[in-house]
Amino acid sequence: MYKAIFVDIDDTLLDYVPCCREAFDAAMDTLSAEGGLSAERSVFCQRSGLFNLFFDIAGRLFSEAKHGKYTIAEVMDLYPKEFIAAIGYPDSAVEPFKHAFRAAWGKTHTLVPEAEEMLETLKNKGYRLFAASNSFGHLQRSRLEQAGILHYFEDTFISMDIGYDKPDIRFYQEALRRAGLKSGEVLMIGDSMTTDIEGAKNAGMDALFFDRRNNASLLELIKEL
Ligand SMILES: [Mg+2]
Repeated sequence: MYKAIFVDIDDTLLDYVPCCREAFDAAMDTLSAEGGLSAERSVFCQRSGLFNLFFDIAGRLFSEAKHGKYTIAEVMDLYPKEFIAAIGYPDSAVEPFKHAFRAAWGKTHTLVPEAEEMLETLKNKGYRLFAASNSFGHLQRSRLEQAGILHYFEDTFISMDIGYDKPDIRFYQEALRRAGLKSGEVLMIGDSMTTDIEGAKNAGMDALFFDRRNNASLLELIKEL
């Protein structure tokens, strides 16, 4: 029935929390090296719940972006700024932290269980596969490549390249246009009810919700396809 499948990246294919933790630790190490934060203090911060603070700040801002308060590009600048202010470090630490986080993020590639098997199965069934994600294109492609799964995708539709963020209907319309597909020919798979499921449905596509928080199985999810 479907010719193609759009697949979300974070928390559908790549495991968001460990990736975030890895990039956060690298960014804290940079504060230690360049921002005058002692190595002992950096280790203390990493182990003392500061990651939770960072994660909460980023989570709140991304959630507000889903509801249209900010663009993803704005959030990418806002969360390092808010975090550095929250831990009482000077503004001069924002840029080194942000750049170190992004550089490290582009290398993070912990796979969600069964992600590769799902892509292999879908590919073998003849579906055209496309990634659809809110982030920087070059970072997401680098992560997929390092996870060894970039080759499954005919193209990657990433919000910063497309010019709109999911769930904006224009993100999906532009992705469909680039793929040369009609909305009825595509199924979206993702873990966010807002950005993936509602967004795709508003654009006239069908969507499958991956219930990541309840440890759903990706292979189970696609078994009817
Ligand atoms: Mg996701």
